[in-house]
Amino acid sequence: MLIQYSLLPLRPKKYMKCPKCGSENYCKDGEIKGVQRYWCKECNYHYTVIQKSNVKSAEMRRLALEMYLEGLGFRSTGRVLKISYVTVYQ
Ligand SMILES: [Zn+2]
Repeated sequence: MLIQYSLLPLRPKKYMKCPKCGSENYCKDGEIKGVQRYWCKECNYHYTVIQKSNVKSAEMRRLALEMYLEGLGFRSTGRVLKISYVTVYQ
C-alpha cells in the first residue's frame, strides 16, 4: 500500500483535518524525527503536522541568512521578514 505524507502547518487542534478527505477522524500514528504523525481513519491517509513555530523559525533562519549574505543586513532582513532585528541577529 502506498503511504503518502504531506507536511502541514499546525493549526489549532479543533481545526485540524485530514489534508486528503477533510475528515477529523484521525489518530496519532507515532513520530518521525520528533514530528507527530497522524493517520486518517476515514481514507487511511498518513500525514505529518509540523509545529508552525518550528517551520517558521527554521524557514526564517534560512531566509534571514540568505538575505544577510545578499548584503541586505540584519535590519533590512528583519523589516522584510517582519521579524525583529534581535530575532534575526540571534
Ligand atoms: Zn482522510
